[in-house]
Amino acid sequence: MALITKAIKGTKDVLPKEVHKNQYIEATCLETAEKFGFKEIRTPVFEHTELFQRGVGDTTDVVQKEMYTFDDKGGRSITLRPEGTAGAVRSYLENGLCNEALPQKVCYLTSCYRYEKPQAGRLREFHQFGVECFGSQSPLADAEIIALAKSVFDSLGIEGLTLELNSIGCPKCRAEYQKALKEYFTQYKDRLCDTCKDRLERNPMRLLDCKSPEDKEIAKGAPVVLDYLCEECQEHFDKVQQYLKAQDIEFKINPNIVRGLDYYTKTVFEFISDSIGAQGTVCGGGRYDGLVKELGGQDTPSLGFGMGLERLMLLMEAQNAPFPEAERPDLFIVALGDKATLKALEITKDMRAEGFGTQLDLNQRSVRAQMKYADKLNAKFNVVIGDNEVETGIATLKNMDTGEQSEISLETFVNGFYRISLDEQLKDLEINGEEFDFGSLFKVNTEEE
Ligand code: ATP
Ligand code: MG
Repeated sequence: MALITKAIKGTKDVLPKEVHKNQYIEATCLETAEKFGFKEIRTPVFEHTELFQRGVGDTTDVVQKEMYTFDDKGGRSITLRPEGTAGAVRSYLENGLCNEALPQKVCYLTSCYRYEKPQAGRLREFHQFGVECFGSQSPLADAEIIALAKSVFDSLGIEGLTLELNSIGCPKCRAEYQKALKEYFTQYKDRLCDTCKDRLERNPMRLLDCKSPEDKEIAKGAPVVLDYLCEECQEHFDKVQQYLKAQDIEFKINPNIVRGLDYYTKTVFEFISDSIGAQGTVCGGGRYDGLVKELGGQDTPSLGFGMGLERLMLLMEAQNAPFPEAERPDLFIVALGDKATLKALEITKDMRAEGFGTQLDLNQRSVRAQMKYADKLNAKFNVVIGDNEVETGIATLKNMDTGEQSEISLETFVNGFYRISLDEQLKDLEINGEEFDFGSLFKVNTEEE
């Protein structure tokens, strides 16, 4: 029925004509991570449900309302990952990365699944670039991952993001704070949304994260976590700020940014844009010093972030940030007849081995149709090979942008292609004020010494 021709709500296809943009963003993320020493880790798309209940926390919206959870045929409860951290921690422990040199720094590009109301910047299948750093309690690590995120944005030419920074302290200082929060919100209990009434008992910090307008208004007058930091947490927070400043990374303190779970600690941050509408948070992260232990490991101070790639794309498009052009075929071979086709296959193989994108018509159509196709593919050069060219061994290479034509030998096609295409590219190159004849490099020197 009609269902099979419709993608699931909240999912998005990436089509061949635009995929180079995604590839560019992904490559930039990985290259940046590499510079900071974060190696890619790949974990399964599904895990035991319990991992996320414990790892994300069962008072969060993600676990309470948004997970894709099902029983598999063996009766196990399975969940499609809603985020990347829990799986990375599981893998870190299971594969003994915890016994290698610390800190262990990993990154990933993954799909995530959340049952949310689809809208601009909010999908049910979305993608994240994330990093995790296991085993450093130093504020240097906090500054390092923030610098990494910033470096991705800079490399992509994104501007105008605000880095909002907060500290939510440690379990020690938070006990006091939670008490104060509970007292404050209890005064307004009747006006709170139902979810928040429940949160008030289970985890009052999550009230600060509520999206209902009325609760948001109430939250404005709530006690501020920064006033409750213990000495150690305050010192850590000061150092993070100092290290960011040392790298010229601007930030704004926002005490309303929270991660309301016991195993999230100290630094939390978001990179926020005002050019992509309500879903403006492009990247969120922070410390989770208690999580590795919560999931069965040693006490391991750790931290990370998740960056939403669809939001990043929206942002780049909204800002007209520069994308590289899609790759074009270097050469299209128009071949006519059996002999020419065999010759074309030979040349195609040699050209591809040299790294040139080379295509021929798989439908063996007329010259006109092949030319039209080459045009649609936006090939840089074309060459027509028919009986005549096979016989003489000479064909005409045509630059499809300029219309310029050059003779080329079929026997030494690749060399000829190098000479002609590079010669054209470098035509305008001047060395020491003189036009450089690149072709001269390929000419055999016949002069006697
Ligand atoms: P939000 O407040 O937008 O719901 P979140 O706190 O649920 O975000 P995180 O769990 O911190 O988000 O995920 C990290 C990043 O992943 C977000 O900052 C955002 O860029 C992206 N992201 C989260 N949920 C979605 C979604 N449903 N669709 C697209 N991107 C998302
Ligand atoms: Mg969310």
